[in-house]
Amino acid sequence: MSFTKTTCPYCGVGCGVIAQSPTAENPTFSVQGDKEHPSNYGRLCSKGSALADTLSTDDRLTTPLINGQAVNWDTATSTIAHKFTQIIEQHGNNAVAFYVSGQLLTEDYYVANKLMKGFIGSGNIDTNSRLCMSSAVASHKRAYGSDTVAGCYEDFEKTDLIILVGSNLAWCHPVLFQRISAAKNAREGSDKPLKIIVIDPRRTATCDIADIHLAIQAGADTWLFNGLLHFLRTNDHLDYNFLENYTQGFSETFNKAKQTAGSIPLVAEKCGLTEEEVIEFYRLFARTEKVVTAYSQGVNQSSYGTDKANSIINCHLATGKIGKVGACPFSITGQPNAMGGREVGGLANQLAAHMDFIPEHLSLVQTFWQSPQIAQQPGLKAVDLFNAAAEGKIKALWIMATNPVVSLPNADIVKKALETCELVIVSECVQQTDTSQYAHILLPAATWGEKDGTVTNSERRISRQRAFLPLHGEARPDWWIISQVAQKMGFRAHFDYQSPADIFREYAALSGYRNYGVRDFDISAVATLTDEDYENLKSFQWPARLGENLNNLRQPNGTERLFSQKRFFTASGKANLIPIVPEGAKLKADVEYPLVLNTGRIRDQWHTMTRTSKAARLMSHLSEPFLEIHPEDAAKHSIRTGQLLKVSSALSVANAQHLLQSQSHLILRAKVTDTQRRGNVFAPIHWNEQFSKNARVGTLIAPFTDNYSGQPEFKHTPVYIEPYHAQWYGFILTQQELKLPDEIEYWSKIRQNEGVWLYELASLKSLGNWTTWVQTHFGESPDWLEFKDVARGRYRGAKMKGERLEFCIFINPTPQLPNRSGLVSLFNKDLSLSERLSLLAGEVGKECSARGDIVCACFGVGKNTIIETIQKQGLTTPKQIGAAIKAGTNCGSCLPELKQLIEQALGKTAA
Ligand code: SF4
Repeated sequence: MSFTKTTCPYCGVGCGVIAQSPTAENPTFSVQGDKEHPSNYGRLCSKGSALADTLSTDDRLTTPLINGQAVNWDTATSTIAHKFTQIIEQHGNNAVAFYVSGQLLTEDYYVANKLMKGFIGSGNIDTNSRLCMSSAVASHKRAYGSDTVAGCYEDFEKTDLIILVGSNLAWCHPVLFQRISAAKNAREGSDKPLKIIVIDPRRTATCDIADIHLAIQAGADTWLFNGLLHFLRTNDHLDYNFLENYTQGFSETFNKAKQTAGSIPLVAEKCGLTEEEVIEFYRLFARTEKVVTAYSQGVNQSSYGTDKANSIINCHLATGKIGKVGACPFSITGQPNAMGGREVGGLANQLAAHMDFIPEHLSLVQTFWQSPQIAQQPGLKAVDLFNAAAEGKIKALWIMATNPVVSLPNADIVKKALETCELVIVSECVQQTDTSQYAHILLPAATWGEKDGTVTNSERRISRQRAFLPLHGEARPDWWIISQVAQKMGFRAHFDYQSPADIFREYAALSGYRNYGVRDFDISAVATLTDEDYENLKSFQWPARLGENLNNLRQPNGTERLFSQKRFFTASGKANLIPIVPEGAKLKADVEYPLVLNTGRIRDQWHTMTRTSKAARLMSHLSEPFLEIHPEDAAKHSIRTGQLLKVSSALSVANAQHLLQSQSHLILRAKVTDTQRRGNVFAPIHWNEQFSKNARVGTLIAPFTDNYSGQPEFKHTPVYIEPYHAQWYGFILTQQELKLPDEIEYWSKIRQNEGVWLYELASLKSLGNWTTWVQTHFGESPDWLEFKDVARGRYRGAKMKGERLEFCIFINPTPQLPNRSGLVSLFNKDLSLSERLSLLAGEVGKECSARGDIVCACFGVGKNTIIETIQKQGLTTPKQIGAAIKAGTNCGSCLPELKQLIEQALGKTAA
């Protein structure tokens, strides 16, 4: 039996995991939390707990492809090198671009950035982290002169007040949520309880641990925090010593706060809160010494995200709540290596090792790399980069480990950009994504479990990600692929890396090169690690400067928190307070588009689902693309829970008129819930064309970006909704994945246990003769079983292979259809005559129907079972539920929902 310590590939919490190889008793890999890793101390969320279920290779890309033809690596990399060189000669070095990802390891990222900025000589490398936290980067640089996250996770446990702004931590950073929740429970009833305030337009699962939930008007954060700054000043809560000696810019900042948010009634009105709520929040912040204000996409993904973040930082600087145990503003990153990308210069407007496009840094980096040229200007940021490609200005685009056709705003323009581009290269680990279908050259990249390198989490912790599986097929690590192309472009000596350790040492040395303590990012302590040291490297938090931080075991001690010496990385050494003028969203709801769409993640899915969709248990929590809507808005639009609805925006309607193959609307399942504010709706970002026909939310979102960071506005899109009254509804259960015909206007695909796929269907289009239609699209068979009720518009068909069920389809004029979970149990076994008859009668699995939607993904426990158990046994805590039916006893990700269900079952809240 062997164990490999590595890190989870999903969110920015960066949990340590241990992968255990198969044994005689347990023939598959298993993955557990690493009790020694300081990010999680053994905890995992539902996604991390299901990692072992995602290791299948059936969808992997196994060989390089040029125009669909398999080629060897030499041909693939030579072709890319040749075409890049040719395009650069003809059109200049800004005619090529890389679009990379927070999924890359730091070593991959470093090599990509070095090639583009230092050798091709263009700034045109940007990352999907632009979409998630570039506003946090811009705000840090404005305030501190450096992109520094001041605190660490321990601060969340040692503080007295946590303010979570625009962050559904319970679902998006679950293990950090669990740590906070445990800290709060431990201090319950003490004289120093841990207070938590959640500021979010939605009542999310995170509110489960909140003392106060401020359901703020979407986008009004700068009024709230400018108002707080003014309150702190007028009520004498400023730290004047800190302000005068360690900051600058306060007079103008305070004046601006007073001018724009100088009265509580005004703030309350702008924020959609009561005056009492605002005052309670302000007083709590003012009288609490140790405060952590943590924020993520709700702040960053805005056309004013940088200002929002600076308005928060201003309040911490004005009160000296920074650089101390339990006191700091804290930006939480979305991706496993968003921070690593920032460190190596993965953003188009940064150089490697947190350096900038200024003469001193350009010269430093170029000298260190001994490169023939270096980009003199920042490159194009993500949205501009794809616009330039759509306009034909970018001729060659290499996309690595990301899926921009799904994730970018104005997503149909991204398709056009890829169609327009002369050369599209996609490095991917799976065969088929919405983006890979546009690739001229497809490169099989190594995936989690095969990759080796480092990642940095939200608290600046650098951890090793280690391989425990062989490379699948011809897959190769991204650093190797990029280095091969670089070598063939004539830069052999500079890209002759033999291992990720080689790259890590070079990158660490660059961070310390002529640093002298003036740059925040410095890991020169690890620049001389041997290969063995690198293999054994334990996680540490940067900076780890040469001479300061390497202990006797050749492990760096690292730095828990920064700014405790009150020195910042500006020219004066003082932090900047930034005057903020609050602005509303660029697009406002109006008569035509009356509801504001917010977007985000759900508990059990990750990004575009390529990995999480492999785990059936992760698909069972929220299994279809949906739109959450407040009951009053739902009533106004005649919408009920479970019904399908159409969602359109001004952009999607305009694009449908101008772009071929562009849809004017999405079709989503309605979830009516009072967790939404009136006037706001919410849709998840994950679904794409591999999993649903019309659910790419990016097609609705206009490409407005923040002026400083270039981060797009994903949280505020005015939309129009209307019921989608299909002529028929249905579903298919099948052992084979299907390509569904165009006449099906709505479908979404869900992996079930037992190797079966479920397709939910609906359409306004008639199918004609059912038997003919079904057998035309899903294969003729002498073993078809059928039930037809033409008068009532009902059809049920089942395709058998001998005694075994291969495929079944149910069609009905209304959404009332037989239970799917029960039918799944009929696959993979010989069916008796009576089972076949019950199959067609739709009478199988009533007990599964009774179970309800899955809440606890780890043990497959459904909502109805939980409610029934609570009521029958008079349970009042999640612990009691766990003891009774195990729900919530593994990863704990469902604990907030269990608490809600207790309230619901006991009649305290609406269902
Ligand atoms: Fe992975 Fe969950 Fe930890 Fe995030 S919180 S790193 S998804 S286990």
